[in-house]
Amino acid sequence: MTAVCRHVAYLGPPTTLGGLLMDPPHSLCVQSYAPRRQRHGTVNADGFGAGWYVDRRAEPVRYRRAQSIWSDQSFASLAPTIASGCVLGAVRSATPGFPADESCAAPFAEGPWLFSHNGATAEPALVRKALRDAVDWVPDALAPVDSAFLFGLAVARWRAGASLGTGLAGVVRDVATAGDGRVTLLAADGERVAGVTWGEPMYVRRHHGAVVVASEPYDDEPGWEEVPDRHLVQAENSAVTVTPIEEAT
Ligand code: GLN
Repeated sequence: MTAVCRHVAYLGPPTTLGGLLMDPPHSLCVQSYAPRRQRHGTVNADGFGAGWYVDRRAEPVRYRRAQSIWSDQSFASLAPTIASGCVLGAVRSATPGFPADESCAAPFAEGPWLFSHNGATAEPALVRKALRDAVDWVPDALAPVDSAFLFGLAVARWRAGASLGTGLAGVVRDVATAGDGRVTLLAADGERVAGVTWGEPMYVRRHHGAVVVASEPYDDEPGWEEVPDRHLVQAENSAVTVTPIEEAT
């Protein structure tokens, strides 16, 4: 069985971490033990994390733990007090073979970027071998999990000048040439969020001047739209574009 994580990215007027990740009826916290649309795995209890941006600081703040989000009372206490206009949160169900270590929990971070991966590369060793020269070995890319390697690929593309979204699309294309897998990705840089779908679902909603991109809707309000498979979704300000991955260069 392959396990699948849940993640969510937010861009818009400041929201609290609690309001985004804990309070909605099907929040990431609820999804960690009762996901509704998860195709693989049942609980997401092998770690979690949140990254968010604050004024006058390009790098995000990041909080990660190796435990389940629902069992972290400290996070429950601080989450309602922190507000940000750009947030990425993730709960993890470790793919068999990879440890349930804090370093393997998303979001991965480097410079202004946050990143998370939902899925698994089919042959992680082969993908690593084929693409090892394309990776920037930033500290987070060294974690013992396939997602970290994908983050290193993304950082290399971003540092070479790719936009947030085209960098993610490039990672998916790289992995597609090197093997197979499910590689649905989310990223943020403080001013935009982007996601690519490849084998795992993703939804987008525009609501009250904000854009949310998520593995599954966190409430039953109208407006959630599924992003088709193998597409790139990009949000900046309140504008959203969805394009096929092949066209995202
Ligand atoms: N393969 C990644 C990991 O082990 C992502 C897992 C997932 O999407 N469940 O953390």
